[in-house]
Parts: sequence; structure tokens; C-alpha cells
Amino acid sequence: MRIANVTGRLTLRRDCGDTDVERASGGRFAADPQAVFERWDEFRAWADAEPADAEATPAVTDLDALGPPSPRPRQVFAIGLNYRAHAAESGHAVPQEPPTFTKYPSSLTGPSGDIALPDGRVDWEVELVVVIGRRAHRVAAEDGWSYVAGLTVGQDISERVRQLAGPVPQFSLAKSFPGFGPTGPELVTPDEFAHPDDLTLGCSVNDEVVQVGSTADLIFPVPELIARLSAVVTLYPGDVVFTGTPAGVGLGRTPQRFLNDGDELKTYIEGIGVMRHRFVTSTSD
Ligand code: ZN
Repeated sequence: MRIANVTGRLTLRRDCGDTDVERASGGRFAADPQAVFERWDEFRAWADAEPADAEATPAVTDLDALGPPSPRPRQVFAIGLNYRAHAAESGHAVPQEPPTFTKYPSSLTGPSGDIALPDGRVDWEVELVVVIGRRAHRVAAEDGWSYVAGLTVGQDISERVRQLAGPVPQFSLAKSFPGFGPTGPELVTPDEFAHPDDLTLGCSVNDEVVQVGSTADLIFPVPELIARLSAVVTLYPGDVVFTGTPAGVGLGRTPQRFLNDGDELKTYIEGIGVMRHRFVTSTSD
């Protein structure tokens, strides 16, 4: 199953087109895309039984009409150094525990649009993003996938000067400027993939490929992350997990390279979709 946040409304996306969930369900499920995760199993059962052509309209293809699949999560987790080649380019050993930080929810945005460049050195990090579908506490890794509502594309945009300026790194703050947490364009349930643990992901700047990787190379794969995180905190429906980036970030290149005014960043994951963002030195808001 694939869903999207279309102009702020929960939308089922199928071959026949888009179905507005609130209208098709006669109000049983709210239009708010955030609300569905609290009733994820019930929603999936309804969607599976819903006739494919029920009230379908032509699919919205304009990325600007789409928002983040989970726009207001209670918690956002992000994992650092989760690919060996990225740990190496960052000058770190392979971690024994997943380094964990947050991107503050105010940094979340949708799969397209302009992102304002603050002073400093702004870098890209393509990431597989997980949205949680069931409350999870002390979950075993072998059960991890059953707590996942779906997968989407993410960028862990990072300002490296602030990240590295303090006596200890400021991951959460430097990765939370407005627009620094884009996700989308759709949320895809794990059963849609032949191999959900092996997805190609990548990004390009002005059509030059800068990152390509596979989630098969995750040091801590999705089920293991859910086990490790839920060993400490309770994960709630709708919570978002940025799972880490493969090699090829600007900070790790020789010479280093960062985003400039007018640069276009295209980000994709196989089987999910593409996000497009433009970086600007100032925006109207
Ligand atoms: Zn990251």
C-alpha cells in the first residue's frame, strides 16, 4: 500500500489513481495524515477491502502539492554513522551502538520546494526514513518490521560549521534549520518491496550524482534499530526514524563540497520515489 499527504489530506495511491481517505471512508478516518498512524492496523484492513476504483481521481503528480507523510510526529530519531563507508569518510570507527540524535519537528518539510541556506556549510545526506505504525517498547529485532507503518525518502540536511563548533558535536541543532528534514513523496508499506532490507538510495546535485548506496549495507538495519531504540524509549505511532546516510556527503569529499544558492538536490529511493529541492540564500518567509 502507498499513501501520501496531498495538500494536507490523507490519500491512498493506487494504479487507478488517488483516493481521498476521509471522503471514501465516509469520515471513519480523518483527513489529517498524522491521525492515521494511531489506527494503523484498522486503516490497513479498511484500505485492503476498499474497492480499487472507489472515488479515485487522477493521481496528483505535482510534488509541490505533497507534504511529509508524517507531518507532526511526537518524536524524530536520527542515526549517525550507520554505513561503514560513511563512518570511514567521517574519520570514525564502525560504531558498536547506533549514535542517536533528533531532528526537531520544526525542521520537517515535504518532498519539494526551496530550502533556505543559513550561514555556514550546508551538506546533503540521503536517508531511508521509517515511520512507526505501532507503539513499541522493548521490541525484539526479529519482530522489528512489524512495528513499521512504512518507508519513505528523507534528507538529513546538515550545517557542518555549527555541527562541529562546540566542545561536543551539535548534531540535533545543526540538522534542524527550517526545511532541513524533508521526507516524501509517499509512504510505502514494507510488503510492497521484494527485499525491504536492500533498497538502492541516492542523490544528485544539479544532476551530478553525489551519493549512491544500498540499505543492505546498514550496520544497524531497520529491525535492529527498532530493537535498540525501543530498548530505551517508547516509540509511538507516527514517530519518524532517519536511518543514516551512505558515503558521498560533501564533508567527506576531497575537496569538500557544500550546497550553494540555486543548487538543485534530487533525492531518491528505489520503489518509493523522488524528492526535489532547491537551495536559496533567502526565501520569502
Ligand atoms: Zn544523517
